[in-house]
Amino acid sequence: MTASARLLIVGPQGSGKGTQGVRIAESYGIPVVSTGDIFRANIKEGTPLGQQVTAILDKGDLVPDELTSEIVRDRLSQEDAAHGFLLDGYPRNTAQVGHLESFLAERGESLDAVILLDVPREESLERLTLRATEQGRSDDTPEAIGHRLDIYERETAPIIEVYGAKGIVDRIDGTGALDEVTERITAALAARGLRLAASAS
Ligand code: ADP
Repeated sequence: MTASARLLIVGPQGSGKGTQGVRIAESYGIPVVSTGDIFRANIKEGTPLGQQVTAILDKGDLVPDELTSEIVRDRLSQEDAAHGFLLDGYPRNTAQVGHLESFLAERGESLDAVILLDVPREESLERLTLRATEQGRSDDTPEAIGHRLDIYERETAPIIEVYGAKGIVDRIDGTGALDEVTERITAALAARGLRLAASAS
């Protein structure tokens, strides 16, 4: 039997969700589907999608829901996501939750767990400032960061209520060493009966 895990990782900007997402996906043998990465790759390659979204990302605004959901739908329809995936950065508001839920329902699927990474605002800001110097992301300016954090609090945090009502949210302390955080997440997922890829073969 193959491992199967349909996961979503959520957390404020600078919570480390990208890093943890990659680690968790690797241990479950599932692909990471990061909408931010998809948009940035398209911008870098100068595709029509990239040209369409570049100004939106630089301002820290959200790409229109319909467009984002269509991209995720296409990505999740690829072979490697048939038995599981880890979503990072999508869904980001309740409209996108609706799109994802109906798409998964068509496949007779639903999310197994939502990992919520909890990090105090001051620590998120410190990490983002560091990332701005290390990676030079064009949306890591103070204005765009502040705007993205506001959108997170206003639009993304409410999706936790929706998934909380379904009983699938694991709130994880995102402070401390990277490995410790990964262990906390793995333990929470194991408690839900989600098996690692290594033990599934
Ligand atoms: P961060 O979490 O640090 O804001 P992401 O890489 O998740 O970084 O997203 C970067 C940008 O990509 C967002 O500010 C937004 O413009 C766009 N984006 C990513 N995911 C979505 C989404 N689900 N809906 C709309 N826009 C998105």
